[in-house]
Amino acid sequence: MNISLSSDFADTVPEMAVSWEAVTVSEPELLALNEPLAKELGLDSAWLRTEGLSFLVSGKGVAQAYAGHQFGGYSPRLGDGRALLLGELTDTESRLRDLHLKGSGRTPFARGGDGLAAVGPMLREYVVSEAMHALGIPTTRALAVVSTGHVVQREEPLAGAVLARVAASHLRVGSFQYARNTGDLDLLRRLADHAIARHHPGSTHLELFSHVVAAQASLVARWMLVGFIHGVMNTDNMTISGETIDYGPCAFMEAYDPTTKYSSIDHRGRYAFGNQPIIAEWNLARLAEALLPLFADDEDEAVSLALATLRTFDAHFEEAWTGGMRAKLGVSGDVKPLLKDLLALMHENHVDFTSFFHLLGKAARGDAEPARSLFLDLAAIDAWLARWRELGPDGAAMDRVNPVYVPRNHLVEEALAAGADGDMGPFDRLLKAVTSPFGERPGLEYFAAPAPQDFSATYRTYCGT
Ligand code: AMP
Ligand code: MG
Repeated sequence: MNISLSSDFADTVPEMAVSWEAVTVSEPELLALNEPLAKELGLDSAWLRTEGLSFLVSGKGVAQAYAGHQFGGYSPRLGDGRALLLGELTDTESRLRDLHLKGSGRTPFARGGDGLAAVGPMLREYVVSEAMHALGIPTTRALAVVSTGHVVQREEPLAGAVLARVAASHLRVGSFQYARNTGDLDLLRRLADHAIARHHPGSTHLELFSHVVAAQASLVARWMLVGFIHGVMNTDNMTISGETIDYGPCAFMEAYDPTTKYSSIDHRGRYAFGNQPIIAEWNLARLAEALLPLFADDEDEAVSLALATLRTFDAHFEEAWTGGMRAKLGVSGDVKPLLKDLLALMHENHVDFTSFFHLLGKAARGDAEPARSLFLDLAAIDAWLARWRELGPDGAAMDRVNPVYVPRNHLVEEALAAGADGDMGPFDRLLKAVTSPFGERPGLEYFAAPAPQDFSATYRTYCGT
């Protein structure tokens, strides 16, 4: 089989593309292959498993340059330190998709890093991104994880792996920060025009920004509707396409609490669950700064255009969030007071976010006990349920939007630990559960249950990915 890749990014902005080759992998072993995605891309899975395996771990491509605000501090030069863009592939629906390798060896952007990735974190990205996709949330996709036979030194020696990733593009807020920071306006314009051609053909530069504001507002609202915490919302980890990218110390919240964070490096909770919308808006302000010279020749005019567009974030977010919550509650009309009271109750009673909305569907059909039993304050939840019932909730509609199975942290950890030991069984079972997240299936109770108490109290995901 012959795979034809284009190099639009590298051809358009060569200043931001360093030609590079993936490190040689002598003992590749396929750990996970996404057959439905391969099919979408027009790739033959049987071939990928055999002669085509090398395609999933090696090859020539480019390391993309980008900058970024990491935890609020600006780094003018980050870039793909351990990843490569192999090129763009036209899928079976004529969409251009990036093919990218992560963990493919040091590049000129590697700084102190080893350029490698361990099996565990690459499997985490695979299972969580595929779960997100199944939940209908825009995300990069995982095509495969291949173990390399290399030893990766972290706190302990770990087995190495490469993730083959597919994205609408790998253009990030940080890509524009990088271009702007070079002072080369022509480069900035070429990059913006490339983004327009790829994602919003025919748009002006201001319209591009407006689309990105809308896409990210809606994306973060969708995260909030399933309890997803990205963990590292640095500007280099936010895409222009509005796809979720770079699953590092991410997690699904269990007991509802807006201050929840899991990342071991996020000491101050900058990227805690409840901060995500405001951080997205902050990141978009950084994008606006980068794009400013393209909005208008006059700086004051450019700033006012940027601000007016940035201000649309709240309305976009509000619409996506409230609309989504209405669907989760199975009702229409003004849900704001009801929602505010519910979230306060869930917070006070440490109620599992996913379980509650799933069980509320049963309550809509007359069996309120499972949902109600999640609360200590029964009088309060009974009063709330009575108000909600008056709105005539639709249980069947709720079941279509409230997932039963999300990649809970303890399940992910268990699957990754087994995978690192060469047993992919738990990973495969978890993947099966979370890629059909809606509707209860018999025999899968284990995948719907919250973590044992002793697990959640101490859980952290590590950025040493
Ligand atoms: P991340 O936090 O994974 O989004 O990565 C932030 C930056 O660090 C990016 O420029 C990555 O390419 C780089 N990076 C992360 N891990 C490594 C590694 N093991 N080797 C080289 N660069 C890395
Ligand atoms: Mg990143």
